[in-house]
Amino acid sequence: MEKNTAEKLYLQMLANADEHGYKLNPDKEFCERLVAGIIKNNERYGIEACPCRLVTGAKEENLDIVCPCDYRDDDLAEYGACFCGLYVTDQYNAKKQVPDRRPPSAAGRKHKAVAGTGAISGLSYPVWRCNVCGYLSAMKNPPGMCPICKAGKERFARFL
Ligand code: SF4
Repeated sequence: MEKNTAEKLYLQMLANADEHGYKLNPDKEFCERLVAGIIKNNERYGIEACPCRLVTGAKEENLDIVCPCDYRDDDLAEYGACFCGLYVTDQYNAKKQVPDRRPPSAAGRKHKAVAGTGAISGLSYPVWRCNVCGYLSAMKNPPGMCPICKAGKERFARFL
């Protein structure tokens, strides 16, 4: 893979992070190594999967770890960094290891898809939740792309 490809994606992610109030790790070389891992995962598995986790099973079972993963925001709030350390906050401490909060089994990860279903009845439209940033959309179908974090349609789950 060309260094240029990783650099390009890094710059894209940097701009996207900036635009949406996120921060990438200030260590550019470290970020580029992670981004190179994401590109490799995309070549290998067809998804821009987390460079710090193993992709196993069907592609659909790994959508939760497409970067930025479903766990990033909770990690940022609790530890000041995502599991890999690609995204950080001002509370980031390079010496602190972030534990992996991803449920180990595919069955354990399904909770997101059903959370909240049926809590309110009589709505005219179903409510879809972006698993990356929590954006809610009440429409017949999930939006093609999350207007907030730009995650794809496949990252939405039925919420209500
Ligand atoms: S932990 Fe999540 S946000 Fe961080 S690099 Fe991996 S997939 Fe991306």
